[in-house]
Amino acid sequence: MKSFKKFALPVAAMVTLMTSCQTVPVTEGDYDNYPAYKGNDLEMTVSENGTNFTLWSPTADSAVVRIYNEGIGGEVVETRYMERKNNNEPWRAAFDEALYGKFYTFSIYHNGEWLAETPGAYTRATGVNGRRAAIIDFATTNPEGWENDVRPALDKFTDIIIYEMHHRDFSIHASAGNQYPGKFLALTQEGTRSPEGEMTGIDHLKELGVTHVHILPSYDYGSVDESRPDSAQYNWGYDPVNYNVPEGSYSTNAFDPATRVREMKQMVQALHAQGIRVILDVVYNHTYINDGSNFSLTTPGYYYRHKEDGSYADASACGNEVASEREMVRDYIVNSVKYWAEEYHLDGFRFDLMGMIDIETMKAVRAELDKIDPTIFVYGEGWAAGAPVIPNEECAMKANAYKIPGVAVFSDDLRDGVKGHFSQATGRGFATGAEGCEESVKFGVVGAIEHPQINYDLVNYSKAPYTNHPTQVINYVSCHDDMCLTDKLRASMPDADEKALQRYARLAQTIVFTSQGVPFMFTGEEIFRDKKGVHNSYCSPDEINAIDWSLKRSNREQFDYYRNLIQLRKSHPAFRLATAEEVREHLQFIENTPAQVVAYTLNGNAGGDEWSEIVVAFNGGSEAAEIEIPEGNWMVIANDGQIDLAGSVKIEGSKATIAHSSALILAR
Ligand code: CA
Repeated sequence: MKSFKKFALPVAAMVTLMTSCQTVPVTEGDYDNYPAYKGNDLEMTVSENGTNFTLWSPTADSAVVRIYNEGIGGEVVETRYMERKNNNEPWRAAFDEALYGKFYTFSIYHNGEWLAETPGAYTRATGVNGRRAAIIDFATTNPEGWENDVRPALDKFTDIIIYEMHHRDFSIHASAGNQYPGKFLALTQEGTRSPEGEMTGIDHLKELGVTHVHILPSYDYGSVDESRPDSAQYNWGYDPVNYNVPEGSYSTNAFDPATRVREMKQMVQALHAQGIRVILDVVYNHTYINDGSNFSLTTPGYYYRHKEDGSYADASACGNEVASEREMVRDYIVNSVKYWAEEYHLDGFRFDLMGMIDIETMKAVRAELDKIDPTIFVYGEGWAAGAPVIPNEECAMKANAYKIPGVAVFSDDLRDGVKGHFSQATGRGFATGAEGCEESVKFGVVGAIEHPQINYDLVNYSKAPYTNHPTQVINYVSCHDDMCLTDKLRASMPDADEKALQRYARLAQTIVFTSQGVPFMFTGEEIFRDKKGVHNSYCSPDEINAIDWSLKRSNREQFDYYRNLIQLRKSHPAFRLATAEEVREHLQFIENTPAQVVAYTLNGNAGGDEWSEIVVAFNGGSEAAEIEIPEGNWMVIANDGQIDLAGSVKIEGSKATIAHSSALILAR
C-alpha cells in the first residue's frame, strides 16, 4: 500500500494552471510558512442552496473535484476544476444543487504529476473502504430520541472505571448470543445470554458495574476489507485512514455511508441509557500509509515530521509521525476530537502513543473539550515507539504529565510492578512473588503523585512523581497490548494451577481497584479469558481474540470477585480521592512491614467515606505475613481471595495476618 496511482496532466489542467493567480509564493517544504486556513468549511459543505468544496492545498498547481453516483466503481459524473484567488486561499468549487447521495474525490496536480484521488482528509462520511467521500444529511443519521441523549452523570475523573474492548472480541463468539456479532449494534442489544444463561453484552457490562467502555479504534481504518463483511477478518484498527468517519466493518452495511454513522450513534445512545459512558481510542500519531494517505494526497509533506534527509520520521514504528505541532495539524486534531464529542456524544478519548503528540496540542484538546463538557475524559499512552523528532520536553510523555493538567497517562510503573515486565513472558511482579517491587506498587497506590513515604529511587521506571493529582493516572495490569493477565500469569507461574492463577489475578486487580487514580481493565479478564499466549494479537483470528462467554459460568467466582471489587470502589470515596493534597493527608503507609508486603491506612473518613479508617494490605509473598495495625475492632472486607462488602467477620487487636498472595482490607 505504499504506492499510488499517477496519471498524466490533461490539457484542461494546463489552462487552469495559467489562469491561477499566484500572488504570494509558497515554498514547497517550508511547512511553517504555509498559509493556514481557519474557515470551518473544509472540505465540503452542503445545504439546500448548494454544495461547496474547499480544499486546503497551498502547493498544488491545480486541483479537481470529481462527483460520482457510487462509493466505489462506476463512472465519473462530473469533473470540476477548482479555483483559488491566490496562494493564500484554498481551492474552491461550487455547485448550485445540494448533492445529497453523491460521492466525491479530490485530486491535485503537484510537482508535475496528478496525484491519486482522495476523499480528502476532513470528510465525515464515506463509501465502502473509505475511498470516496459521501454527501449525506447528518440530521437523518440521528436515531430516535438522540436529541434526548445525555452523558451519564460523572462527578470526578477518579470515579471512572474503564473497560477496554474490541467490538469483535466482545460479541463475535456464538456464546455471546448476539444478533449483531462484531458490530456497533451488538452493544445495543439487551437480554443476551450465554448458553449457560449468564448475562452477556450490555447486560454483562451493567452487571459488572463499569462506568466507561473504551472501544478500540472505531474510526475508519484500512486493514479490514469492508466489502467482504462475511469473511472473518480481524484487526485492532491502529491504522487510521479517515479520522472523522466510523469504521465500516462495524456497521451492518459499509456501502451505505449513513448506516455506520447512525449505528455508532445507536451504540452510544444504548450505553448512555444504561449509565455507561463511551471512550474512543484515537490514533492521531500516525497514518496507515505514507505517500498515499489522505494527508499526503491533499497537502504533500505538510502533515508529517521528517528526518533531516527528508525521509519520514517514524517514532510510531508504523512508518510515519504526524506533525501535531504544525498549525493546521493541531487544528485538525483538536477539531476532530471536538467533532466526535459533539456529533457522536462521545465521553472520552484515549490517545494512542500520546508521547508523540506535542503538549500544546494536548492542552488545546483539553481546553476545547472543557467548553463542551469538562467531564469528558482524556488520557493516553505517555510514550512513543521510538524517539520523536521534536524535543522530548515538548512531547506529551508520561514524565511531562504534570505539564498537562486534565490529561491522564497510563502507569506502566504499576502495571509491570504488579505483574512483571510486559514483554518478558516469564518475568514476575509483586503479585506473583517477585521481590523488590514494593515501591513500584506504592507509587501506583498514591496515583503517581509526590508522597513523602515513597522512595522514588526504587520505583521500577519513574524515579519521580509525574502527576499533579491522581486524576491524571490510569492504573492497570493489562490491556489489548501484550499478554493479557491470564496468559501472563500462566507464562510466569507455570507450576500454578487454575485456582492459584486466579488468586494472583485477584491480588493484582485488588491493587488496581483500590489504588488512587483511574482503574482500567481489559475485556474478559473478569471471566479469566485468555489469548492463548499470543502477545501481539492485532490481526489474530477469532480463536485467539474472541471471548468465549461460557467462561462466565465456569469462572463465576472470579467474576463475582471483580464485581465486588468494583462495588467496593464505587461505594467508598476513600479509594477515589481527586487531589494530591487529600491523598497526602489521608493515606499513610504502615512502616516496618515484612518484605513483599505493602500496607497503608486511609483515615479521617477520607473523601467523605462512611468508614472512618481503612487498612489495605497486599502480600505478594508465598507465605502468610503479619503486620501491625491500629489497635481496636475491625470489619474484614477482603481476606484470602474473598470479598465481603458487609464486613460480617470481625477482628480485634493490633496485629493482622495477610494470607499469601492476597489482599487484606479492614474497615471501621
Ligand atoms: Ca475501514
